[in-house]
Amino acid sequence: MFPDYRLRQREYLLQISRAMTARLNLPSLLKLILENAVEILSGQAGLIVLRRDDSTFYPRASYGLPAEAVNLFDALWKDLPTTAGRRGWQVPDLHMRLSLASAAAGMPLRQVVALPMVIEDEIIGLIYIFRSRGAEFTVNDRQVLGDFADQAAIAVQNAWLYQQVDDERARLNAIIENSGDGVMILEADRTIRTWNRALVGMTGVPAEEAIGRHCYDVLNLHNRQGVSVCYTACPLAKPPEDGRLYAEGDTQRADGIKVSVADNYSPQYDEDNRLISVIANVRDVSRLREAEDMKNTLLSVISHELKTPVSIIKGYAGTLVRQDANWDKETLTDGLSIIEDEADKLNELINNLLDASRLQAGGLKLKFGFLDLPSMAEKTIDRFRPQTDKHTFSVDFPENLPPVKGDHERMREILSNLVSNALKYSPDGGLIRIGGWAEENEVQVYVSDEGIGIPATEQEHIFDRFARVDNSLTRQTPGAGLGLFLVKAVIEAHGGRVWVESRPGQGSTFNFAIPI
Ligand code: ADP
Repeated sequence: MFPDYRLRQREYLLQISRAMTARLNLPSLLKLILENAVEILSGQAGLIVLRRDDSTFYPRASYGLPAEAVNLFDALWKDLPTTAGRRGWQVPDLHMRLSLASAAAGMPLRQVVALPMVIEDEIIGLIYIFRSRGAEFTVNDRQVLGDFADQAAIAVQNAWLYQQVDDERARLNAIIENSGDGVMILEADRTIRTWNRALVGMTGVPAEEAIGRHCYDVLNLHNRQGVSVCYTACPLAKPPEDGRLYAEGDTQRADGIKVSVADNYSPQYDEDNRLISVIANVRDVSRLREAEDMKNTLLSVISHELKTPVSIIKGYAGTLVRQDANWDKETLTDGLSIIEDEADKLNELINNLLDASRLQAGGLKLKFGFLDLPSMAEKTIDRFRPQTDKHTFSVDFPENLPPVKGDHERMREILSNLVSNALKYSPDGGLIRIGGWAEENEVQVYVSDEGIGIPATEQEHIFDRFARVDNSLTRQTPGAGLGLFLVKAVIEAHGGRVWVESRPGQGSTFNFAIPI
């Protein structure tokens, strides 16, 4: 071998080593190693096998060999030892292995040289270079490839570690991205670095809009009193004494809906105990809050609405039962009918409460039959007529109104609720009308009054549970805000819809439509 040829080989080797260490992508690194190794040794083909965790080897890169044939060479790396001293290690029976492999693959490969890539005596892989023609591999060739393999081992190990870290990072990202809870990762100054899909859904803020901004600007939590939690009580800005990094509050979603969230923060510190990032777990607790609010409302409604009739009943019953009084018949009848009225109110309230809770539990079942709406409307009016002398009533349906299918008892309640409201919310009296007509595939019914009306902003809320318009009349009028909620739920259970037309001071018309 000529010295200057060797020298050039060495130089070349050095150059490649540099190129190798700069490359962190494993497939492209292996390609670089292999192409250069084949070239230095004037070979025609080459293979790199890497070691698996279970200490077997598998081909990871090839050069000059048909890809589909690579596995046919497995005689070359079957049952290899996995440790090697630094130098002089040889693949046992290499030439026999080559004969087996060439025969299996049907390729005339005559010469092979194989050198292990070793890190701390552990073989992490092997480089094979083949010649199908030309001279045998010399000692120098082995030496050159040996040096080359040492460099390659380090580069492969680095790329491998890098790939592992990269895989791990991708896995963590996938976990964070797909977590059912909201997850955000913050930098020490509370700039958002990661904003996962659950958070996008929760807040309506896309990740690209949130990332790079401060969490207190994006979430901007407020407490029930409207005070900013983020600006006044952020546990990251002012860690609480108990060390519990927790915050809760309401955030406004892009579509205007309020979302209640609870955040748990876990800070990450570096070796010098400096805060480097914070992982925040954000849960949507709106349902929980709603349930809590509902419970509170329910308690106050029950205590308020049940107390009044009960105390009236108690008062009248106590008076009428007095031994020393000798009530005349008229007083007795008046007193008892008041007791009866109040008991009816109680009964209605309790029924409404029960229905509302059945609805919530999905337990409200409808018993379908054919409904004669005009006669049901007449009967409802007949029940209410004696309760008022300020109102007049009218019923107006066409003769040939087709029968609709529905639950008789529930429909009676709906009409009763609507007429009862029409009465309650027109304290100065007026005309209350029930009527309806058939459209192509549904029957529409209305109940109208000439009462106080409902402001436009309240109209979509009055069908919510426990919703009541806040005005002096409602405050004086008994009610739990359940009537319209039940009307809507029952009409929708019939496949229908309900809506209101109203102007303050000009009366209201409640409409519903159910399919024929
Ligand atoms: P409640 O009458 O027990 O308060 P509802 O669910 O029946 O509950 O009605 C909800 C609210 O809608 C009432 O509190 C009232 O403010 C308003 N409302 C209902 N019906 C009428 C009506 N006919 N005219 C004016 N306001 C009404």
